Amino acid sequence: MTLSDDIWFKTSQCFIAGRWRDPLSGDTLALENPSTGEAIAQIARGKADDIDAAVNAARDAMDGAWGRTTAAERGRLLARLGALVLEKSETLARLEAADVGKPLSQARADAQALGRYMEFYGGAADKLMGETIPYLEGYTVYTLREPHGVTAHIVPWNYPMQIIGRSVGAALAAGNACVLKPAEEACLTALAFADLARQAGFPAGALNVVPGLGEEAGAALSAHPGVDHVSFTGSVGVGSLIQSAAARNVVPVTLELGGKSPQVVFDDADIDAALPFLVNAGIQNAGQTCSASSRILVQRGIHDEVLGRMAARYRALRVGPAMADLEVGPLISARQKQIVEGFLAQGHDLVRAAEARIVDDAPAGGHYVAPVLFSSVGAGHALARDEIFGPVQVVMPFDDEAEAVAIANGTDYGLVASVWTGDGARQMRLARKLRAGQVFVNNYGAGGGVELPFGGVGKSGHGREKGFEALYGFTRLKTVAARHG
Ligand code: NAD
Repeated sequence: MTLSDDIWFKTSQCFIAGRWRDPLSGDTLALENPSTGEAIAQIARGKADDIDAAVNAARDAMDGAWGRTTAAERGRLLARLGALVLEKSETLARLEAADVGKPLSQARADAQALGRYMEFYGGAADKLMGETIPYLEGYTVYTLREPHGVTAHIVPWNYPMQIIGRSVGAALAAGNACVLKPAEEACLTALAFADLARQAGFPAGALNVVPGLGEEAGAALSAHPGVDHVSFTGSVGVGSLIQSAAARNVVPVTLELGGKSPQVVFDDADIDAALPFLVNAGIQNAGQTCSASSRILVQRGIHDEVLGRMAARYRALRVGPAMADLEVGPLISARQKQIVEGFLAQGHDLVRAAEARIVDDAPAGGHYVAPVLFSSVGAGHALARDEIFGPVQVVMPFDDEAEAVAIANGTDYGLVASVWTGDGARQMRLARKLRAGQVFVNNYGAGGGVELPFGGVGKSGHGREKGFEALYGFTRLKTVAARHG
């Protein structure tokens, strides 16, 4: 079975107003398979005029059939879309594995998550309510949760299905019409998703997808005066540009920008339970995960044991093509490989505690980097401070709780953190003290977290996605004060 058997939609077109259309310029871009370096499809190179058509289609949808859809009907449509996603989950997983380079079982988990997001937000759509507010004698005051209108969704290449699920799923449930700009490096599942939404019966214009370059389609979308809310996941630099563009139109923005997330392991921790989480959270999706745990802080008494056991796991990791479904796949692109190798070169003065192994038959054109575990890294070193977005972890010792918190909170980021300890009081203290949008106690990101509000502090961004909280972000509150005497 070849990849083309999995593609039933038009890869070189945009999905606008419920129909597949060529980009107005007719231009296309090549999509590369990171496992081999070969082109797998041509995608539309959408530009400002395509974005304009998509935003207008979304506006028409808000003023038309989609805007009149009841919350219950939106829930039903999302549930139907979720069922179609799960029916097609193996196909979606193969597309994502080929496009992103992630091992097939990780792509399968992402397809399940996309289905789960549709179920969750389908179930939540008619449970989003306002409040009544006690007020003056003779008044009835209540709040309405209204959709923003047209929402823009600019997503990266690392987890297309998961990020589309959490962002577009919540926005549609809340009654917005969406314009999605997938990443130029990976957008097959975004296109497949658009076609499944068509099949599920979403009215024309409720969901529009325009692939294209960030500086063309992405910039046009974030600056478009017809957009009422922008949701962005990606790099700090682009996030800042997007916030500036949205500021000119005075519209709200949700930014999810990555991190340098720590796991803090105290000497009373259950090391056996911690070990798989310590390593997997660093190498999953070859470390190209905003919530990757790239810093492992270990109390000095158990430091050598934890380091040794992590190193043993690293030496057993195999790196190879996505379809071989090993522990680690390639990086997304030659550019990303170059960035990661640049960081590894900066670590020339550090101790390499262990390295993983690229399998002998990995295709020469693939963007493979063997995961590296560094030890004895000072908190000020670039490898301990900057987001690498590759399969690299540093292990750092600490003596006491205060030092652990200082190191853990000592970067510009604050997305996720975890604490491993059997001491209940310490668990509670650290949960409060760690500067992060999510803190896990004796686990790290277990269960995927569709239901769990997610987002950062500091350079990790602002606003919350996932869970019920995302629905508040995709609505605006109106207060109605009625005087009736
Ligand atoms: P990026 O921020 O450049 O791209 C993310 C999305 O933004 C893509 O859809 C892209 O087309 C779009 N974009 C790019 N420039 C734009 C612009 N000027 N205006 C509007 N949209 C624009 O991320 P990248 O180049 O794919 O990766 C670079 C770095 O970003 C990575 O090394 C990593 O540090 C970070 N990153 C973080 C996440 C995350 O989940 N937080 C995901 C991907 C990348």
